[in-house]
Amino acid sequence: MVAEILQMLRERVRPGITTLELDQLAENQCTKWKARPAFKGYGGFPFTICASPNDQVVHGFANHEPLHDGDIISIDFGLIVDDFYGDSAITVPVGEVDQKTSNLLQVTKDSLECGIAAALPGGHLSDISSAVQTRVERDGFSVVREFVGHGIGRQLHEDPQIPNYGSSGRGIRLKEGMTFAIEPMVNVGLAGVRVLEDGWTAVTVDGKRSAHFEHTIAITENGPEILTCLGS
Ligand code: MG
Ligand code: MG
Repeated sequence: MVAEILQMLRERVRPGITTLELDQLAENQCTKWKARPAFKGYGGFPFTICASPNDQVVHGFANHEPLHDGDIISIDFGLIVDDFYGDSAITVPVGEVDQKTSNLLQVTKDSLECGIAAALPGGHLSDISSAVQTRVERDGFSVVREFVGHGIGRQLHEDPQIPNYGSSGRGIRLKEGMTFAIEPMVNVGLAGVRVLEDGWTAVTVDGKRSAHFEHTIAITENGPEILTCLGS
C-alpha cells in the first residue's frame, strides 16, 4: 500500500501541483483502503506525507506553494495496517532538472540500494551504514548525520537506529526476521542541517539541495527483501 500510494503521488508530480494536493491524495487513498496514516499526529506532525522540496532535507510541511519546473520534491510516507507500519520515501524531479540534481537523485537512490544489499543475515548493522556512505561519497556528495534509519514493525521507529555513515563490522548482528527502514539523506553541499522555527522542517545549512530515498525491508535467510516496492 505504501508503494502504491507513493507511485500514485510520483505520477501526479508536475509543475503547478501543490504539496497539499499531494498530501490530500495520500490521505484519501488511506481512507479508501482503511489504512491509518503513520505520520499524521506522530509527535504532533500535522500532515499525512512529509513534503520536502529542494533544500529541505526531511519532515517538510505540505503547503499551497505550487512546485516549479526544475524543483525536486521528497515525499516520505508511512501507514499502519493490522498494527504494522510501513515507511518509504522517494525524491521526484519536477519537470526537467539540471544535471547536478539528476546525479544527486541517482546517487541517493543507488546508496539506498547499496545499503539494502548489505543487510545480510550474519552481517553487522553498520555494514548497511558503511555501504551507504561509501556510495554517496564516491560521487562527492554528503551524508546527513542528524537523521537516521530505524527498526520498524509495531512501532514506526524502533531500535536500532541505522546511521548512514560509519565503518562496517559494528553493531548488532543481522538476523532473519528483522525489519528495518533504511533511509539515506544526501546533500549536494555541506552535510549540516538545521531545523526551522516550525520545529520540524530540516533544511541544509548551505541552502543547497538534498535528496531522500527510503524502503522498509525484511531480512530473510536469502538476504534482504524490500517490503515497500511494487512487483517482485
Ligand atoms: Mg519515512
Ligand atoms: Mg523512516
